[in-house]
Amino acid sequence: MAGRNFLFVPGPTNVPDRVQRAMVISQEDHRSPDFPKITRQITLGLKRVFRADNGIPFVFPSSGTGCWEAALTNTLSPGDRVLAARFGQFSHLWIDMCQRLGLKVDIVDCEWGTGVPLDIYRDKLETDAEHAIKAVLVCHNETATGVTSDVAGVRRVLDNANHPALLFVDCVSSLASIDLRFDEWGIDMAVSGSQKGLMLPAGLGILCASMKALESRHTARLRRSYFDLDTMFASNNTGYYPYTPALSLLYGLVESLKMIDEEGLDNIFRRHHYLAAGVRAAVQQGWKLELCAKSPEWYSDTVSAIMVPEGVNGADVIARAYNRYNLSLGAGLSRMAGKLFRIGHLGDMNEVHLMAAIAGAEMAMLDCGIRVEPGSGVAAASEYWRNQALF
Ligand code: PLP
Repeated sequence: MAGRNFLFVPGPTNVPDRVQRAMVISQEDHRSPDFPKITRQITLGLKRVFRADNGIPFVFPSSGTGCWEAALTNTLSPGDRVLAARFGQFSHLWIDMCQRLGLKVDIVDCEWGTGVPLDIYRDKLETDAEHAIKAVLVCHNETATGVTSDVAGVRRVLDNANHPALLFVDCVSSLASIDLRFDEWGIDMAVSGSQKGLMLPAGLGILCASMKALESRHTARLRRSYFDLDTMFASNNTGYYPYTPALSLLYGLVESLKMIDEEGLDNIFRRHHYLAAGVRAAVQQGWKLELCAKSPEWYSDTVSAIMVPEGVNGADVIARAYNRYNLSLGAGLSRMAGKLFRIGHLGDMNEVHLMAAIAGAEMAMLDCGIRVEPGSGVAAASEYWRNQALF
């Protein structure tokens, strides 16, 4: 098909040309005397992105899922209780992993389209006088439904209850896109991946661990080998990796971290909010459709999940967009299959770029019989963006 594919799934995201070029390298000796320079640059850059002066970042050749496992297995023992809310496919999968690893999960099932219920977390933690709950899980940005949860609120709940449980945060689709403060929010394990806000291909699992979380590796009895933080920590301390690192991706990461520093994290968060608000204007004011996220407190600045009207299959809209317009939209996952399509608006993105998703989704919806007003999404987004001061 002529023309480029427009990629608007919420990860993998578009890789900037600069980062692409940085990854075209001759392979080199990862045990050379020069190699520690790269490791050091990455560690310092990730500390800035996590806002973690006190946290230790780790990079695994894996995806985000691998770091879910690293976070759990390095801190917990079989039968340990963890508290987790389930409100979308990714919060579900993390819980599923906990159960498969032999942890006991206090699952708080919530309506999909909402996020972590602070009041229920508060009740559970306040009544856990024995401190049987060892870890609290938060999926910061549920990519399946376009919902962002209040991590700082969970930290407050833990502190008010005087509860020592570790705070684990999945920031796979929020890191470097939505405000996240590792130190300030007392996060113990933050799990992410390379293919979203970091603007790289998939292939790196990114983790940040607090000293408290790292300490618990001495008592944690879950089995681990490849993801053993002890081994990684010892090797990283000398500037190396315990096994062959994904060199090209590491060079890409150095470049993307430079880009993040140049733009500035706060500006990046503001840009993501501004772009997301334009998409929401297209959906709600232009198309008169609903988001999966139930109310503004849950709106995600990295992905919008757009409900299709009854009687229409969201998968048809996605197929039409792809086959006819070379536009990749995100699918409805699990119980949302067929009910929605998603526009990812994270990473290397601007207004005009994002207009391609809005215009293309609009054409695909019209082709599938959804009676939106032609041009209304583009008009509403343009109206919003033109009237905003630049971020
Ligand atoms: N958590 C969230 C919120 C995600 O969006 C994803 C993937 O999209 C994952 C976890 C799993 O990450 P990965 O696909 O990198 O293993």
